[in-house]
Amino acid sequence: MAKALRVAIVGAGMGGLTAAATLRRAGIDAEIYEQAPAFSRLGAGIQMSPNAVKVLRAIGLEDKVRDIAFRPERQFSRVWDSGDVNLEYPFGDTIEERCGAPYLLMHRGDLHALLTTAVPDAAVHRSKKLVDLEQAATGVRLVFEDGSTAEADAVIGADGVHSRVRELLFGREAPHYSGRVAHRSTFPAARLNGKTIDDCTKWWGEDRHIVVYYTTRKRDEIYFVTSVPEPAWTEESWSLKADVESLRAAFTGFHPTVKMVLDACPEVHKWAIFERDPMAAWSKGRTVLIGDACHPMTPYMAQGAATAMEDAAVLARCLEGVDRDGITDAFATFEATRKERTSKIQHVSHMNVWLHRSSDTDWVFAYDPWNEPLAKPPVAALS
Ligand SMILES: Cc1cc2nc3c(=O)[nH]c(=O)nc-3n(C[C@H](O)[C@H](O)[C@H](O)COP(=O)(O)OP(=O)(O)OC[C@H]3O[C@@H](n4cnc5c(N)ncnc54)[C@H](O)[C@@H]3O)c2cc1C
Repeated sequence: MAKALRVAIVGAGMGGLTAAATLRRAGIDAEIYEQAPAFSRLGAGIQMSPNAVKVLRAIGLEDKVRDIAFRPERQFSRVWDSGDVNLEYPFGDTIEERCGAPYLLMHRGDLHALLTTAVPDAAVHRSKKLVDLEQAATGVRLVFEDGSTAEADAVIGADGVHSRVRELLFGREAPHYSGRVAHRSTFPAARLNGKTIDDCTKWWGEDRHIVVYYTTRKRDEIYFVTSVPEPAWTEESWSLKADVESLRAAFTGFHPTVKMVLDACPEVHKWAIFERDPMAAWSKGRTVLIGDACHPMTPYMAQGAATAMEDAAVLARCLEGVDRDGITDAFATFEATRKERTSKIQHVSHMNVWLHRSSDTDWVFAYDPWNEPLAKPPVAALS
């Protein structure tokens, strides 16, 4: 019997953890190397659309996610000051029946914690910051900042928008700052003093917006995320504590519901929004990229983590049953299957038009990464 492939995954974020789970489900030995010493419950919400929930289902997490996440009935697209409705988009049973899985809203930390339960603890190596990769004909050697090393038949770079793996494969090319920041905060709904919000609303201003929703099934936690112009981003950190008063000032004149939410918010962080043009290639030799490492996008379609999870499902299908000689062909098939879709999502996300007035969404939400036909790679890509 052929020896199981040994795959090393760099990064235990949304894509890396999901990939470890999908690969292990396909009989592949996957180990994760993560730079952080521990995981914290970052104050942020996350939307899990049906295409992502189909991945969670296959790795045994759907019921656990449904237990804690909020299942909204609808999303409103509203005019920033009047509150007039541009679009009322049905979630709830409607989307579940049409797209084959629910649309869920939850705390990002809760989702991350659940993903860690889908991978054996011993397979997640913390405090392992990748600094170098040595690719040879027979395998790859990973070198970490603490001087330790690891060997694998193949490597998956799931190390996010500032990916070191990407830099080692294709050279340094920083993602471009979009000129905008996202403020994010989660806080107890009790801070609204008995008032409630709609399930999920995006308030569209002229040059800024804010999305507000519940993150728990019990509706006891609220999340908002903004997009606000900020000409330069000079900080080293890509996530910083922000001043709540300045944020409230940035949304002066918005509808009283927005004011109510911002007045109740005790603290807020801000993130720089980075983008990258679609890349010519995602893999080299025995190493491949997934998620934000190869297709980072603005958060305006809430598809960054969802597409990273789709990548994890499709990559596991491409690698299943493959021996060490078939890795580069499997990576070529993966890229050929995924690139058109993720490039289109990157583009639409950049435009910031999603669910504004039109509801042509099934090409995103009804997608099933487990049943999507695998594409034939261009002949030149095959080894
Ligand atoms: C404001 C905002 C809101 C968003 N909302 C949504 C949403 O609602 N729905 C959605 O689907 N997406 C959303 N996204 C996008 C989503 O957060 C990202 O697309 C997703 O986290 C990408 O997953 P990833 O695994 O590629 O990278 P990440 O989740 O960023 O994980 C990368 C991991 O790699 C580790 N790492 C980095 N470098 C190294 C190294 N050298 N060695 C070892 N480890 C390393 C990091 O510590 C991290 O754990 C949002 C993004 C933003 C900014």
